[in-house]
Amino acid sequence: MEQNRTYRIDTHMHTIASGHAYNTIDEMTRKAKEIGMDAICFTEHAPKMPGSCGILYFNNLHVLPKEKYGVSRLFGCEANIMKLDGTVDMPQSMLEKMDIVIASFHTPCIQASTVEQNTAALIEVMKNPFIHIIGHPDDSRYAVDMEAVVLAAKEHHTLLELNNTSLKPDGPRRGARDNDLKMLSLCKKENVCITLGSDAHIEEDIANFTRAVALLEEVDFPNRLIANTDFELLQSYLRK
Ligand SMILES: [Zn+2]
Ligand SMILES: [Zn+2]
Repeated sequence: MEQNRTYRIDTHMHTIASGHAYNTIDEMTRKAKEIGMDAICFTEHAPKMPGSCGILYFNNLHVLPKEKYGVSRLFGCEANIMKLDGTVDMPQSMLEKMDIVIASFHTPCIQASTVEQNTAALIEVMKNPFIHIIGHPDDSRYAVDMEAVVLAAKEHHTLLELNNTSLKPDGPRRGARDNDLKMLSLCKKENVCITLGSDAHIEEDIANFTRAVALLEEVDFPNRLIANTDFELLQSYLRK
């Protein structure tokens, strides 16, 4: 797989700690070095995802060096949205200590609801200053009012993710391509920043943005609105 040379930051990856991913932190870091990455983000599934690690795993993330083999490493989680009021499965006191936090809808953790309710839930999540990214908001199983989501992301300085794994033709996230095209068009119009996430569960998928980049090209999406092009730009969202 040919890694993309423009986007040297990956904001969404999993290791064996997530329970259904297959490399270690060290293996992922070595691979990132090998393919020329500047920074990688370890966003393990938070505890309510069946098979993922427990709260103590996240409590001890501070022991990990923030740089190894010349690659910057950010440690956080992909929290599960548990309730329509925006509650996630990670205490606020823990979120505050993390470098990067994604929050996503996942089928083992919350039932699909109406468009209005799903949208309201994402907006409540974005109000949390310690949640930086909405993960794969492109899943028709959790259909949202994309315009409302994009405007809320602008207001609350939250990144919307373009998730490469969502775009797998045989993947479970329905309607992702159409929803992502809609999201990109609205973000371009409203000057709202996105982030590319590989959602890698194996080292070979680090910075695999192949399908995402095809969509970016389709809508002629500007690099200045992509957090993966500039570490400072990304940092501005992590300090929101
Ligand atoms: Zn996810
Ligand atoms: Zn993920």
